[in-house]
This record gives sequence, C-alpha cells and structure tokens, in this order.
Amino acid sequence: MVAPPPLLSIADYKSADGDHKPAVEKPHGIVTVHHLGFGNSTATCSCGWEGRRRRLKAAAEQDAWTHSILERCAVACPLVITW
Ligand SMILES: [Zn+2]
Repeated sequence: MVAPPPLLSIADYKSADGDHKPAVEKPHGIVTVHHLGFGNSTATCSCGWEGRRRRLKAAAEQDAWTHSILERCAVACPLVITW
C-alpha cells in the first residue's frame, strides 16, 4: 500500500521557490496615449517603450493597456493626453 504524498500548504510553495519576490511587483513606468490630432495617436511609456502610430485612438489605448499588462507599467489617469 502506497502512502499518499504529503499535502503542501501555500507557505511551503513559497519557501520551496527560493527567491523572495513580492506578490505584486511595483510598476516601473507610466504609460500614456498621446493624441496628436485626428487619426494620429501613439502610446508611449516612461520606461522607454513606444507603440506604433495608430489612426484610431482606441487602438493606441489598447496598445497602452497591453503594455501595462505585459510589462507591469502603470497606466496614467487620464490615459489620453491631447497635444
Ligand atoms: Zn512601460
């Protein structure tokens, strides 16, 4: 008869990981959308990232949100800045 494996608690998983990263990392950049006129919007971030020029402002906003999710940068409030 084989004994079942011991149950691990959440603390065991954290200690077995080895590195002590915080659960939520702090954002390192602030991403905004620059609305440069009709049909000309670009998402840029203070971390150095820059998105493509978009004809639709909503597409640039999607670029900004995607960058914030993937790179853990914060989104500005308000997101869109008209120049
Ligand atoms: Zn960024």
